Amino acid sequence: MSDMLTYEEYKALAKTIELPDQAFINGQFCPAASGKTFVSTNPATGDKLADIAACDAEDVDFAVGKAREAFEDGRWSKLHPNERKDILLKLCELVEANAHELAVMESLDSGKPISDCENIDIPEFVHTLKWHAELVDKIYDQTAPVGPGAMSMIVREPVGVVGAVLPWNFPLLMLAWKIAPCLAAGCTMVLKPAAQTTLTALKVAELASAAGLPAGVLNIVPGSGREVGEPIGLHMDIDMVTFTGSTATGRRFLNYSAQSNLKKVVLELGGKNPCIVLDDAERLDEVAQQVCAAAFWNMGENCSAGSRLIVQKGIKDELLERISHYASEWTVGDPLNPANALGAMIDSGHFAKVASYLELAREVGYEVPVGGETMDGVYIQPTVVDGVKNSDKIAREEIFGPVLSVITVSTYEEAIAVANDTEYGLAASVFTANARKSLRAAQAIRAGTVTVNCFGEGDISTPFGGYKQSGFGGRDNSIHAHDQYTEIKTIWVDLSAG
Ligand code: NAP
Ligand code: MG
Repeated sequence: MSDMLTYEEYKALAKTIELPDQAFINGQFCPAASGKTFVSTNPATGDKLADIAACDAEDVDFAVGKAREAFEDGRWSKLHPNERKDILLKLCELVEANAHELAVMESLDSGKPISDCENIDIPEFVHTLKWHAELVDKIYDQTAPVGPGAMSMIVREPVGVVGAVLPWNFPLLMLAWKIAPCLAAGCTMVLKPAAQTTLTALKVAELASAAGLPAGVLNIVPGSGREVGEPIGLHMDIDMVTFTGSTATGRRFLNYSAQSNLKKVVLELGGKNPCIVLDDAERLDEVAQQVCAAAFWNMGENCSAGSRLIVQKGIKDELLERISHYASEWTVGDPLNPANALGAMIDSGHFAKVASYLELAREVGYEVPVGGETMDGVYIQPTVVDGVKNSDKIAREEIFGPVLSVITVSTYEEAIAVANDTEYGLAASVFTANARKSLRAAQAIRAGTVTVNCFGEGDISTPFGGYKQSGFGGRDNSIHAHDQYTEIKTIWVDLSAG
């Protein structure tokens, strides 16, 4: 736990912090070339936070030019890895020194509970950046067994200018997942935060500059998907795009690449992730706590949320009873109040979308043993919907809200079949006391991460990404993330005598 402030202190800080509102290109803040702005609002109150520079293709082009210059002259890409490491570690220090301010900014902008911002998002931001900074001066390249007449080297080189397009659900954390391996590898970046959540990315860019990151290396271009995301996708001088967001938008990036310069594309997309609980699962209180965390954490606005509980019938009633008990610990309300575990939905459009599933649950007549209501037009109660069939709309679509569908099964085999019956394949959890069964399940489930007797996403040392329509082209986190941002080059040297 970091040193949390009190509710009163957070409210006071929220009134006084200065919010960045301009683009950050070539080492400085600047307005959009068009002079246009868009309003950023606090999702919990509807109040205006700032008028943010509304960039478009012209700004993207300018930023790409600066990122290209910075890449080609080697001010970053050709530094010794030690030097890149030192600057990124300095950024970690500055983020820690500004932790309360960043946490409040993140909470105001996204509706996330301040306790998560302080205890998860910021520490994990720092941890991610440190891990990749520490990695880059410890990776060795390879030579190939080409015989005595030649020597061949297989070397990694930074991929070049990288476009990054981010979602709003974990603004700081997704920023870290992208910039840490990308900058550590020596690339330069043009990054678009989600329009709803631009503030912390801009603040981090400012801190990075103060840490010594050279101008043009990390450029933040705020604006909409249409005005900024699409020009990034289509730009002829961007070497790679890394994207986290919905499957529908991810698909577009493959099209953009095909229509432009065949830039590399890495996609981290949605999920409808199963939590399997078998009859022999032990320590049901812990299972229930984990299932609640899987379904409700971050308001369910989480691509790896465990939104389908697939429970074997012998244990179901007892498990649901305990889930009902632990769900009450997920208190919902003002994101700035450290006592709340859940805050506001990201915006009114998304609130309406999630609320429509609560309405659907009433229409269909499902049992709703937990929650089922909205509050103040911005909050959604943690909700459990029982009696769901896996073919039902509520079990197939990614809701991205705190809504858990309960699907009852008879056997292990049925549980696995139901778990895999989805177009997604991001994450899964299985709870059982039988080690052999847990590993059989881990093998059988087609998902990028399978956790046993817990919910989670692994950590920075383990790759994260999806099978099927949950991902494409690479993995975030671990050394695999580093590989995303490097090209592999073969250098062949003739050694024949004479
Ligand atoms: P989204 O609508 O796909 O938006 C993601 C980003 O793409 C935003 O910056 C958005 O810009 C931009 N964008 C939208 N339309 C675009 C277009 N036509 N061309 C180029 N860029 C465009 O997703 P979201 O609603 O922000 O995020 C929620 C989704 O992300 C969920 O489906 C969730 O599962 C997924 N997600 C996946 C992971 C993962 O690691 N697999 C992690 C987090 C979230 P705007 O600023 O205009 O919105
Ligand atoms: Mg906002």
